Amino acid sequence: MASVPLKEQKKGGCQCCAYVLGGDTAHPELHCGYEYFQQAAKDRKVMKLSSFPAVEADQCCDNWCSKNAI
Ligand code: SF4
Repeated sequence: MASVPLKEQKKGGCQCCAYVLGGDTAHPELHCGYEYFQQAAKDRKVMKLSSFPAVEADQCCDNWCSKNAI
C-alpha cells in the first residue's frame, strides 16, 4: 500500500475532497473532477464519470479542498 503523508491523511483524502465525483451506490468508484470544476459552470460539458481520472479514497494531492469550503 502506498504511504500517504500524515498531513494528507488528516485532510481525509479524495473521499473527503470537494472535487471528487462518484462514491455513491450507483457509481461506487471515485473519480477526480478537479479539472472539470476549474471550468466556468457555463462551459462545463456533461461527461461520463469514467472519463475522469480514477482515484482511491485515501489518495490525495495538492488540490485537495474541503467539501465544506466550496
Ligand atoms: S486527486 Fe486531488 S483534487 Fe482530485 S479528488 Fe483527490 S484530492 Fe481532490
